[in-house]
Amino acid sequence: MLTLNKITKKYKDKTALSEVSMELSCGIYGLLGPNGAGKSTLMNIITGNIRPTEGTVFWNGTDIRELGGRFRSLIGYAPQQQVLYSSFSGRRFLSYMAALKRIPKKEVKNEIDRVLSYVNMQEAADRAVGGYSGGMKQRILIAQAILGAPELIVLDEPTAGLDPKERVRVREQIKALAGDKIILVSTHVVSDIAPVAKEIIVIRSGSIIDRNTVEALCQKYGESRNLEEVYMHIFGEEERYGSPDSL
Ligand code: ADP
Ligand code: MG
Repeated sequence: MLTLNKITKKYKDKTALSEVSMELSCGIYGLLGPNGAGKSTLMNIITGNIRPTEGTVFWNGTDIRELGGRFRSLIGYAPQQQVLYSSFSGRRFLSYMAALKRIPKKEVKNEIDRVLSYVNMQEAADRAVGGYSGGMKQRILIAQAILGAPELIVLDEPTAGLDPKERVRVREQIKALAGDKIILVSTHVVSDIAPVAKEIIVIRSGSIIDRNTVEALCQKYGESRNLEEVYMHIFGEEERYGSPDSL
């Protein structure tokens, strides 16, 4: 169980998140909102990579700051921007990440083979990541996030920059991850997450403005036929004219 209690994040005078509270239990959650809404900031706070200005993140009731390194081994995180050393092979990148995650040496090889086959990257594993397509890069990043069977998986815009076919593939892989764990996936592309998410968490200008199943959200927002319509209902103006933030 992941609990956020009144998370606020300020960057100088800019409030990126404002008193965000929520509880997540097992399942796939879509974090949906336009650029600048605060998705990456929230994910960086949940994964302990940046500190909130105020508020606390709890894992099964314990402040993640108290868990320290133990929390690291519980989570898998694929940040929105990740530097891939282009000369590394996929396998070498994964073994580097396995070392950072302190996966026991004798388990590393099996674990890398497991995650490679999970994302269907066995064949490309020994090629340099610099030559990978966008979809292959995203798949190796997902593979990295699931090293060591984490209980909390956080994927920040895993389908960004992918073509429609690759998007579906990544979505299906996320779906297949579901089980006894929490999976939080951010996106501003509704179709990437609507078919697989247990619940959608809608974030706007640093606040959670709604959270529900796709069905319930469709009903709430004027009998929308699908989540795309809900999204346009809430964010249509921003998508057309840019968020207030970008003006
Ligand atoms: P999203 O991932 O939803 O696009 P972000 O979390 O990246 O949103 O950003 C939320 C807000 O915080 C934006 O207004 C962004 O400009 C601002 N922001 C994010 N990171 C920084 C930073 N390091 N310094 C200053 N402002 C930031
Ligand atoms: Mg982002």
